[in-house]
Amino acid sequence: MAYDLEIITADSWKELIPLTDQVPELGKVELITIHHTNSNPLHPLPEKVRLNNLLQFHISDRGWNDIGYHFLISNKGQVFEGRNLSYQGSHVEGFNKGNIGIVVIGDYNIERVRPRVSIVLRNLIEELLKQFNLKKDSVKGHRDFKEKLPGSCPGDFLYQWIMEFRNEKE
Ligand SMILES: [Zn+2]
Repeated sequence: MAYDLEIITADSWKELIPLTDQVPELGKVELITIHHTNSNPLHPLPEKVRLNNLLQFHISDRGWNDIGYHFLISNKGQVFEGRNLSYQGSHVEGFNKGNIGIVVIGDYNIERVRPRVSIVLRNLIEELLKQFNLKKDSVKGHRDFKEKLPGSCPGDFLYQWIMEFRNEKE
């Protein structure tokens, strides 16, 4: 896939081999949903260790076949490939079909969206919108699928970012 931005491939960070071939195909893409990991931004571990901890958690504790999200963005603005885009993610209960999952690592109730994160998130979303011929209102925050409770995923600062992005002219 040709993106204008650098994406660190799943092969180069995953220490477990996912069983993604047991997952249903993504199907026609209609939505892109943004999440945060709701984890401590001052976490001392390197990104690859954090990502593998999350992968391990999703496989062992949640019982999924792979990490739940298609893309992961660190607070330094690195973009990591998660679950292969051919397959459904596990990120919005009941709404994973045709729904691309992007997670920003950190707690966006206490962290503001840094400029570097804002740029790569925008680039990634705009590439995906172009690739799948979608409009900006296809971009959701996780809380849009349930009660829109303040503080819920993707955190208030990141949700605000999404609302501003969606309200920009096409
Ligand atoms: Zn979420």
